[in-house]
Amino acid sequence: MPINITDITTRTATARGAEHELSWQESALCAQTGPEFFFPAPGSSTREAKRLCGACEGREACLQYALANDERFGVWGGLSEKERQNLRRTATS
Ligand code: SF4
Repeated sequence: MPINITDITTRTATARGAEHELSWQESALCAQTGPEFFFPAPGSSTREAKRLCGACEGREACLQYALANDERFGVWGGLSEKERQNLRRTATS
């Protein structure tokens, strides 16, 4: 079977784009803590997660990722589920 160089090039570029898109995860402070801060039980405080997000280098990219991928649960980019929902509503109105 002949090698399709266009297909390989496209797949490589797509993989590089995905790697770049997720590069913020390399410096994610949440990766150094337990998920319980970022995915708290209903009614539990999100304060500690938001405090860590405030010091995280990838905060903006993380929030953009969560909004683009419609992440429904947990704290992403310093915003809770409800805060992201409100941000989406504000952006579309
Ligand atoms: S902004 Fe918060 S949720 Fe996003 S990567 Fe940083 S610590 Fe994790």
